[in-house]
Formats: sequence, C-alpha cells, structure tokens
Amino acid sequence: MGLSDETFTCGSPSPRFTPGPDTWIRCPNGDRVCSFCGSLHPEDFERLAKEAADKDSSTFIDPTTKQYKWYVRRDEVPNASAGGIKFYSWHAPTDEVRNRINAVLPEAVRVSLVKIDIRAQDALEEMARRDGRLPEGGNDGTD
Ligand SMILES: [Zn+2]
Repeated sequence: MGLSDETFTCGSPSPRFTPGPDTWIRCPNGDRVCSFCGSLHPEDFERLAKEAADKDSSTFIDPTTKQYKWYVRRDEVPNASAGGIKFYSWHAPTDEVRNRINAVLPEAVRVSLVKIDIRAQDALEEMARRDGRLPEGGNDGTD
C-alpha cells in the first residue's frame, strides 16, 4: 500500500484519535481509499458504479440500510486488504461529484440486484440438480 501526496480532512462524523491530515492509500489492486474511514475515492466509486450498471460485469453495488454508505462487491476483492469495499457519501463533497455519482447509482443498484438474483437462481438450480441433499459418502479427509 502506498500513500499519495494529496491531503484532506475526512468528513466522517466518527471521533478522531489521530489529528490528520488524511490521504488516499493505494490498495494492491490500484483502488484509492481514505486513510481515516476507508472509503473509496469518489472517482474510483464512480467507475465501479458504472461497472456495476453493466449486466455482464461481476461488480455489485449494495445500498445498505444507511443512506450515507454503499458496499462495493467484486469477486476479485474478497476483503478490504485487497481493495476498496465501501463508499461514504461525505467523500462526494461537491455538487459536481455528487451529481456524477447520482447519475449512475440507481441503475448500478438496480442491475446489481438483478445479477444477484441470477446468481441465486443458479445456486438453487445447482442444488436442485443434487436433489437438495447432501452428497453421499461425505468426505474421507483426503481433501
Ligand atoms: Zn474518509
């Protein structure tokens, strides 16, 4: 992980135990995340939201129950040590950035939900092929 030269003050309402300033940390996969709250950089989140809106991609945006937080799910990013997994709305600090993200976000969430449903159907079909049962024989411990 590397640090960029750009510094800022994160808008997170969480209590601070370090004074800042904050900076963008470069993840192994190239994503930039806030050094304080872990949010994706707004440009990275915008790019990932556009990917999620593509029905053939394996990028998903999950709106969560919090109005200020979105999860980004990708098969190749199993956890936050590999890349960015969330975005907080305080990292879209200007109208221009907010408007650009808002232009793609509803479609990104809608297509994500469709893709998740397709995956669920595939999993259920696979289970039905196995008769909805545990396989016979179990595991002999060799694998
Ligand atoms: Zn932050």
